[in-house]
Amino acid sequence: MKVERRAVLEALARIVGAGHVLTDPRLIAGALVEPRGLYQGKALALVRPGSTVEVAEVLKLCNDAGIGVTPQGGNTGLVGGQTPDETGDEVILSTQRLRAIREIDPHADVMICEAGVTLAEAQAAALEADRLFPLSLAAEGTCTIGGNAATNAGGLTVIAYGTMRELITGVEAVLADGRIVNALSKLRKDNTGYDVKGLFVGSEGTLGVVTAASLRLFPNPRARATAFVALKSPQRALDLLSIARERLGAGVTTFELIARFAYDITLRHGLARAPLAGDHAWYVLIEASSQIAAGFEDAFSGALEAAFDEGVIEDAAIAASLDQRHEFWKLRDSIPEAQIHEGGSIKHDVSVAVGDVPAFLAEATKAVEAFEPGARVCPFGHLGDGNIHFNVSQPEGGGQAAFLARWDAMNQVVHGIVARMGGSFSAEHGVGRLKRDLLARTKDPGTLSVMRQIKAALDPNRVMNPGKVL
Ligand code: FAD
Repeated sequence: MKVERRAVLEALARIVGAGHVLTDPRLIAGALVEPRGLYQGKALALVRPGSTVEVAEVLKLCNDAGIGVTPQGGNTGLVGGQTPDETGDEVILSTQRLRAIREIDPHADVMICEAGVTLAEAQAAALEADRLFPLSLAAEGTCTIGGNAATNAGGLTVIAYGTMRELITGVEAVLADGRIVNALSKLRKDNTGYDVKGLFVGSEGTLGVVTAASLRLFPNPRARATAFVALKSPQRALDLLSIARERLGAGVTTFELIARFAYDITLRHGLARAPLAGDHAWYVLIEASSQIAAGFEDAFSGALEAAFDEGVIEDAAIAASLDQRHEFWKLRDSIPEAQIHEGGSIKHDVSVAVGDVPAFLAEATKAVEAFEPGARVCPFGHLGDGNIHFNVSQPEGGGQAAFLARWDAMNQVVHGIVARMGGSFSAEHGVGRLKRDLLARTKDPGTLSVMRQIKAALDPNRVMNPGKVL
């Protein structure tokens, strides 16, 4: 086995150069563990191909030798999809060196980025061309376009622009046997058969490696307004969403619901400043934008005034400066960190139909509090998409390990409610390793069988990201 391993490593080095086949555990330690420390793997090597052709040669070699390949971008995924298993037999294929922005086409409003370009770099390149690439999420400084495509990332602007699936017009990908699929189209209209590019979006590295993607660009908004709003209940938040849409149309780009507990802990741990005085049960961070600057601020404040007059909201602060806007966002972004200071937290990344969110929150809160007396629910997230991060912090003064040991059991309680409402147990973060068994148990059998057939057709030796998703 040792000789075989050495032969494989030498062959990999001939493809990508010896400097890009890393085996020293100290150099690859960061790539072996996922961000929350849920999985700790080992690897034969971390390989960094510098081109699509090199990716193809690496995959062909691994496929012929029966070696599992774990694709990895920014390593920010939250379900263990980018972490190799514990055997030490798999290769991590890192996209770190696929960093070119190949083209920005302002007429087609399309930008072609290689897989290893970070989301923040893609956003900045679009801005330089006076365009907007709207995907936005807290990990944007580190996560990559390849990872965003592979996880069908969503984030903070889905309500206006959709998930990665709607933001992609084409992909270039390499299959397990080294075949290159060039579906890097800029076309919005192309009805010539199956949506092959779409197969790779959300495939989490199990069907091939995405090496580049064509991304849709949008006009760069000329005006933007942000407000922090206090209200009584999630139902009132939905009412506010209706009023805002009625008055601002598709310009509502963010609508984040925040529970009182989530708000309070960011202040308690000094991570944010209070945007509003007084005590309120729920909050919303709302942002809207427009191509027409004249009159936009009035329209935005008019929507909030109307909501106030109708008794929908209790209080609101509109950001008067960029700094204040950042303050509002800081509160929203620091909720996960604040939860760490509160001890253990059990997560549920779920979605239900938007109108069902209030009923889901009420039912899930009651069920969780009955299941674990003293547990503190900490829901927050993308109400406009029906996607709530239904996190639960451990009881005050309780043991963290004992609480976290009930992770699966609590998940079952919450996911049972989600299933009854026709929702999803993974709205954003995918399946990876964390939710693989749940997928097998709960997905519609017909859909699951199609997924398995696609996997068998494109990766018959099961070398692409083994043990993930299916
Ligand atoms: P990785 O973590 O490296 O990989 C993720 C998965 O994609 C793995 O299965 C991996 O094998 C596969 N993969 C990576 N690159 C490729 C490729 N080129 N070809 C094929 N497969 C590949 N997600 C949301 O949708 N919305 C959010 O709001 C959001 N917020 C987040 C906030 C934080 C703080 C963090 C840490 C994560 C968040 N995420 C969110 C999770 C999100 O999925 C990832 O941040 C991101 O999309 C993954 O990109 P990555 O480059 O880090 O991929």
